[in-house]
Amino acid sequence: MPVQPRVDLDSLPSYVAGRTVPGAVKLSSNETPGGPLPSVAKAIAEATTNVNRYPDISVAKLAARLAEKTGLTVEQIAVGCGSVALCQQLVQAMCAPGDEVLFAWRSFESYPIVSQIANATPVKVPLDASHTHDLDAMAAKITPKTRVIFVCNPNNPTGTANRRAELDRFLDRVPSDVLVVLDEAYREFVTDPDVPDGLDYVRTRENVAVLRTFSKAYGLAGLRVGYFAGPAAVAEAVRKVYVPFSVNSLAQIAAMASLDAEDELLERCETIVAERDRVRAALIEAGYEVPDSQANFVWLPLGEKALDFAEHTLANKVVVRAFAGDGVRVTVSHHDENDLFLHAARSYRSKN
Ligand SMILES: *Cc1c(COP(=O)(O)O)cnc(C)c1O
Repeated sequence: MPVQPRVDLDSLPSYVAGRTVPGAVKLSSNETPGGPLPSVAKAIAEATTNVNRYPDISVAKLAARLAEKTGLTVEQIAVGCGSVALCQQLVQAMCAPGDEVLFAWRSFESYPIVSQIANATPVKVPLDASHTHDLDAMAAKITPKTRVIFVCNPNNPTGTANRRAELDRFLDRVPSDVLVVLDEAYREFVTDPDVPDGLDYVRTRENVAVLRTFSKAYGLAGLRVGYFAGPAAVAEAVRKVYVPFSVNSLAQIAAMASLDAEDELLERCETIVAERDRVRAALIEAGYEVPDSQANFVWLPLGEKALDFAEHTLANKVVVRAFAGDGVRVTVSHHDENDLFLHAARSYRSKN
């Protein structure tokens, strides 16, 4: 008999990364367009002289910095190889086989994958008509088997965000033994003052956690580092299922250098936010429906035309992220790259 991997993995959806096409502008992965700041690049370069050594397995210095930044204890922090790895660790740390992981759909594509890998049962709750988490419908789907609820705020790929009042009401309905994970990968791009900072909930509620990443606003997608902040008992369990040394030494150094340069990086985010609002307004003027985005991308709910639209922009040298039958997510970049995309979007409209 040949070796036989787990049969259930045959039905596991693959993570689809945004495409990179040589010669085309890449607006498909929600990355920051600028390279690392000179101070961060220098710290990374200096750290390369030490790569013969293993990284600090406990990521102690960075975790201490993050505790200080968030006002939490270091016991409440877990650093991971990107927040995607932390999603997987969280489900492994919280769920026995058959337990349920609840999340909206469409949302971040890792949630069903990490649930299935951990033998947990993914439960998807459709977004509402405004492409936003339907928190009442999600609360109604909680069962005795529910262990984790992911709320992606703002939501990838629709950019929509849930506000404080509805989140308060939702959290009041969630049983105290169910963990709510606010995935705030795009928090730094939020401009709506009514969208709460999830860390405020971590400070005041015992079943709420937050995931943050250095991949988006901090521009370190290639180095893979993110963090969990939440109840100390969960953080400890998340650290237990950590793949040893997976947060590499360059990532640890670069994340700390980025915290040192935070003001400069957040200024860059302001430029992206201004461009986001410009791109959205231009798309609406061209006749597209575009939900309000609180992230560094916009969502076009094009339904059956999603793939066709993406092919059209690709022919115009712009790569976007299409979700078949659903919509297209477009990362906001520099002015000129955004204009290239807007040009393609307008010419699609005139043909269709
Ligand atoms: C990009 C993204 C992440 C993860 O990023 P990492 O690069 O793994 O840190 C997590 N959640 C959401 C919703 C994202 O869009």
